Amino acid sequence: MADVENGEADLLYFPPKAIQNEAHVQSMDQYREMYKRSVEDPAGFWGDIAKQYHWESPQTGEFLNYNFDYTKGPISIKWLEGAKTNICYNAVDRHVENGHGDKIAFYWEGNDPDDHGKITYRELRAKVCKFANVLKNLGVQKGDRVAIYMPMILEISVAMLACARIGAIHSIVFGGFSSESLADRIQDAKCRFLLTADGVWRGAKLLNLKDISDEAIVKCHQHGHEVEKCVVVRHLSPFEEQVVEGDGDCVEEPPAKRPARQLRIRWHHDRDLWWHELMEKASDECDIVWMDAEDPLFMLYTSGSTGKPKGVLHTVGGYMIYSSTTFKYVFDYHPDDIYWCTADVGWITGHTYVTYGPLINCATGIIFEGTPFYPDAGRFWAIVEKYKVTKFYTAPTAIRAIMRYGDGFVTKYDRSSLKVLGTVGEPINPEAWLWYYNVVGNKQCAVVDTFWQTETGGHVLTPLPGATPTKPGSATFPFFGIVPHILSEDGKEVEDEGEGYLVFSQPWPGMMRTVYGSHERFETTYFKKFPGFYTTGDGARRDKDGYIWVTGRIDDMVNVSGHLLSTAEIESALVEHKAVTEAAVVSHPHTIKGECTYCFVTLKEGYEFTDELEIELKRMVRTKIGPFAEPDFIQNAPGLPKTRSGKIMRRILRKVAVGNRDIGDVTTLADESVVDLLFELRPEKV
Ligand code: ATP
Ligand code: MG
Repeated sequence: MADVENGEADLLYFPPKAIQNEAHVQSMDQYREMYKRSVEDPAGFWGDIAKQYHWESPQTGEFLNYNFDYTKGPISIKWLEGAKTNICYNAVDRHVENGHGDKIAFYWEGNDPDDHGKITYRELRAKVCKFANVLKNLGVQKGDRVAIYMPMILEISVAMLACARIGAIHSIVFGGFSSESLADRIQDAKCRFLLTADGVWRGAKLLNLKDISDEAIVKCHQHGHEVEKCVVVRHLSPFEEQVVEGDGDCVEEPPAKRPARQLRIRWHHDRDLWWHELMEKASDECDIVWMDAEDPLFMLYTSGSTGKPKGVLHTVGGYMIYSSTTFKYVFDYHPDDIYWCTADVGWITGHTYVTYGPLINCATGIIFEGTPFYPDAGRFWAIVEKYKVTKFYTAPTAIRAIMRYGDGFVTKYDRSSLKVLGTVGEPINPEAWLWYYNVVGNKQCAVVDTFWQTETGGHVLTPLPGATPTKPGSATFPFFGIVPHILSEDGKEVEDEGEGYLVFSQPWPGMMRTVYGSHERFETTYFKKFPGFYTTGDGARRDKDGYIWVTGRIDDMVNVSGHLLSTAEIESALVEHKAVTEAAVVSHPHTIKGECTYCFVTLKEGYEFTDELEIELKRMVRTKIGPFAEPDFIQNAPGLPKTRSGKIMRRILRKVAVGNRDIGDVTTLADESVVDLLFELRPEKV
């Protein structure tokens, strides 16, 4: 649209002066100096940072010990081995002891704008201690895995911290997953304990989490795995639920406050326990279990965009240092900030940037239960105004979805408190970047496009708000300690300008240590392709100014007549058309060109998919990128198959493109019905 056509996408955006003047890093020179030390002397750089935290005892061996080259032996990464600490102590107790007990740790904003709450660091400490005692009383021990399947409520962070306090490994499963996905993950991690809630409102929908948990436990049982205890948070009011034994009937009486049905919760006395009843009896003092820096902290399954999810394992010490340091610099954290990350705690973004990173920095954060569209498309900005949010972090999929509803929903709220706007999850197309910058940020904010993965634990490529001149759509430069390289298929370094595989040649403290239960899978997935490098699986391009542009998963590259094209680039071109709100491009076999591109486009409200539009879109890609990039096929897609974290699942679209209904594992798909619709709408001429 206008902004991109005006050439705004090709400009450099400098840090706003007001942000720069108070920033931790205020210039590229300062960044380069710090960066240089971080990669040349990692032990010195991270060692200085580590001094800010409490260590019960120092490391016994080397500060850093690793092998990235599988031809020389097993892959291993160890930071501060032998040092004793506890992340819960550093995230909570330390602040209370330092006189910050009355600071708000979290505001809680419910799905319903009238529902809200808050918790101070002192209150958080008491709750965490209580729940840690509850876990201990149930028989949870250091090293046990605890599954958590909860909505966005304060108890989810309390549960994580309580596990961390006693050395149990939490394995959170996003509350939008089906019983089957939950059962798979419980079994893979061999969890004997499940923490959940009765139900949750998401927009106008009431979800029965307890039912889904029950089904998952039965599925586990059928496969010979027993979940011994299930702790249930009573989140709905008694009005909204009815607790019955076994298979009682659903009561259809509408609750007083909300126009919805009542939930029926089945209760199994030998297994189910109410959270609030256990908490009442528990003591609010609980000793810390001092952990080795390399002891496991949590495991978390990747989103499953590309295949079977992997149980990524993170450890205590390195993750603590890295989550908190990235939080401090990338959001340029200051003690008076009100910070809001919209991600669900069930994803890595929620682990690192809702719970751990902010709390270790003693920040005030927001936990939001609802959706961007309830009660209307202005909800995000209503919350920004209500709490005077200064740092805001969300995903491109949310930005694109909100954009569809026009600027009015944004501009009617006061956003003058905002300073930094972050994005994560997918490449952000320049169109959406500019809208975020111009409309949401009113040209007064720094936009940080942060590239990272469940595996990396924290940001790895990202601008710094007070230092980095940004380009719309580029994640710019490496964070401290990260050494990126771009390699060609045969492993040659792409120097200067060029495109290829994005890999890292040195470990950083927050990177994963293994895939739970399969170190071999860890080595094969991340280290076998290029010996000596961690392979991200994403493609990247370096431009003439040294900026890095993540082009998306390497499987999503298309080779048309010998030209390697990134599907993200074609998608960006398509989305610039006024009729298109979202696009997804995949490769399709072609007898002459080898491969060609097949594009799915979702139209804005009020537009119709016609032959003329198809021609216009093809022409648009041709002029924006080049004649060789002109798509062969364009298909109307009223919806796109997405993971529950909102990412487009291109592997399914590749199947639709060739008309192959054998689409494989779809348990991570948010809405399966769109797949059938796409097969139906497939043009006959393909
Ligand atoms: P799976 O590994 O199971 O297929 P996933 O890769 O989607 O799932 P995550 O770890 O949540 O699971 O996502 C990381 C991926 O998201 C990255 O590898 C990259 O493809 C994409 N991504 C994240 N942030 C950005 C960004 N700022 N720019 C471009 N891509 C991004
Ligand atoms: Mg991945």
